[in-house]
Amino acid sequence: MTPEIEQFRRAAHRALEWIVGYYQDPRRYLVRVPMKPGALADALPGEAPEEGESYEALLEDFERLIVPAATHWNHPRFFAWFPSSSSPPAVLGEMLAATLNTNGIHWLSSPAVVELEQVTLGWLRQWLGLPREFFGEILDTASVSSLHAMAAAREAADPEVRERGARPGLTLYCSEHAHSSIEKGALVLGIGRQHIRKIPVDGEFRMRADLLERAIEQDRAAGLRPFCIVATAGTTSTSSVDPLEATARIAEGHGLWLHVDAAYAGAAAILPEKRPLFEGWERAHSIVLNAHKWLFTPLDLSVLYTRRPDVMRRTFSLVPEYLRTAEDPRAVHLMDYGLPLGRRFRALKFWFVLRRLGRRGITELLRSHIAWAQELAAWIDADRRFERVAPVPFSTVCFRLRGDNDANRRLLNRVNESGRFLLSHTELDGRYVLRIAIGNYHTRREDVQEAWELIRRTADEL
Ligand code: PLP
Repeated sequence: MTPEIEQFRRAAHRALEWIVGYYQDPRRYLVRVPMKPGALADALPGEAPEEGESYEALLEDFERLIVPAATHWNHPRFFAWFPSSSSPPAVLGEMLAATLNTNGIHWLSSPAVVELEQVTLGWLRQWLGLPREFFGEILDTASVSSLHAMAAAREAADPEVRERGARPGLTLYCSEHAHSSIEKGALVLGIGRQHIRKIPVDGEFRMRADLLERAIEQDRAAGLRPFCIVATAGTTSTSSVDPLEATARIAEGHGLWLHVDAAYAGAAAILPEKRPLFEGWERAHSIVLNAHKWLFTPLDLSVLYTRRPDVMRRTFSLVPEYLRTAEDPRAVHLMDYGLPLGRRFRALKFWFVLRRLGRRGITELLRSHIAWAQELAAWIDADRRFERVAPVPFSTVCFRLRGDNDANRRLLNRVNESGRFLLSHTELDGRYVLRIAIGNYHTRREDVQEAWELIRRTADEL
């Protein structure tokens, strides 16, 4: 063994011990340490070292400076935004993927990346109950996956777009509760704000199918070109699910591309009892769900499924001579299905998770999170000082103090300032609302219970 490799071995053992300690007792960390912007940057040298440093120095600084500045998304008491946690098998897979550093540009550049991606996404597709024709690829985030879906939708509606450039008047539909990544993606594609219709929602924050259809008809009559509907299964504020059957029927009736953004909630389709909420999504042209949200796999692992890989190829395939390889019908070239050329071996960590936890393990985790969210909802309903402001179809609970927005803002800030829990907020009908999203691999029922106790105590003190 060379001295360099020997030093690496010792440092790797130390890092592994740190990881094991982190997993054993994550609650000894605050979810978030209060700090001022710039504090970490100021504590670090302004210039990189001239000479290489020891692993010991690096690991010491990691523990001393970096860990306290991290918001611990992996913490069992992280309840903000949507969950995103890494399970131990995923960490192993990530470590090994970085060691191989193999790049799945096309099949020849790494058969392992290409074929394992197809196999793992095939497994997941079966668990989700989606038909065989759905082709899956891994991208970094749901924002980028949805951008790809919308680009394919534009290609389907306007096959000349590559030659001529975009036609004016292409119009996209989503609910007013769709994630901002939909509007952002449409802006990047040059659709223009004037041609993004945000359809109002019903009393449970679901897109109104009647208003969707009316908007499409009005736009057609006005000479515009409706091309894409984005439905959300698990909206960011309340986790509501748009009416997928009705939306699919409208998309089919008007010849539009249907993209379903199931970034967070899509994982719940693994559960037979939740599958009815997703009925109709099998008729979509594309679906995104993030394994890095509620499938215990660390960032980044967004899954984009499409029933129209041919359109995805028409949209994205552009092969310079140096990337040409012999054609073989079984050799998938991932560069043909998206914008990035280089693709890291994300499927490895996901394969480790799917195999280590199995469908049973994942099902148990998802069911626990949903059950604790239901319990929390019941506790909130039983306390007359609070009101719950949205149904709880999955593991996200929206509630508020019966009072003004300012009181709710103060309540959230006080709870978060404790550093023991991290919650987030949203606004619904002009009202400031607190959110607790449960879904971390290490969360236990007591974590949810203690969060609720702290919220109640803090409300007493306001
Ligand atoms: N779609 C929905 C419904 C989301 O809630 C989010 C983020 O929370 C996104 C998309 C964006 O996900 P990403 O961070 O992977 O781009």
